[in-house]
Amino acid sequence: MSLAGHLYKLQQLDLELQRKQQELRDLEHQLSDNKALVAAESKLASQRTQLEDEGKKQRSSEWELEDLQEKGRQIGNKLYSGTTKNPKELVNLELELKGFKSQIRPKEDALLRLMSQVEEIEAEARTTSEELDRLTREWDESQRTVGQRKGEVETMLVQLRDNRERLVQQVAPEALSIYERTRLAQGEAVVKVERGKCQGCHITVPTSQWQKARAGDLIQCSSCSRILYLE
Ligand SMILES: [Zn+2]
Repeated sequence: MSLAGHLYKLQQLDLELQRKQQELRDLEHQLSDNKALVAAESKLASQRTQLEDEGKKQRSSEWELEDLQEKGRQIGNKLYSGTTKNPKELVNLELELKGFKSQIRPKEDALLRLMSQVEEIEAEARTTSEELDRLTREWDESQRTVGQRKGEVETMLVQLRDNRERLVQQVAPEALSIYERTRLAQGEAVVKVERGKCQGCHITVPTSQWQKARAGDLIQCSSCSRILYLE
């Protein structure tokens, strides 16, 4: 294989190395990115706290209501049992009973509102919990498949670096440093000559130059400095 041919092969290896390194970075990012999962966890935690608070409010409202109802019942018993004969006392009891009844109604309404609020939060928490289950399953699955792919890519990278090492040993150091410099400057260091033109900058390469390149000399394009390669 000609020198330019070796360098062309080196370039293909380097491009493949770059692609695999990029893939490895992407995979590592996927393995560590659990933002959605963390967000769902914290959402569920806050809904559960809210549920606990509203539940406490609901219970204390129930107790208050039961207390009022019990007191109302006691007055009612006194009023209708016939044990109280004194008319003035009876009128007072009636007023007292009325007073309790007027307190009970708004408490019942407030309790109903609280109960429906609790139900609403319970439904939301159920949805979040299902979402969290789904995200957890997806996360476990992706840790498994992405982790497996990461292992494969790491093995490929080791092989590619080995191949590169071997190939580099077959190239003269001066040619290698021209390759590295051109690669840094142009991205693509080795280009083919097709129909007499440099495929890097599309300028026509003088016949004498591409003939030398074909004969195995290391020839750089006079316009873009890329290394010319003819199969
Ligand atoms: Zn060129």
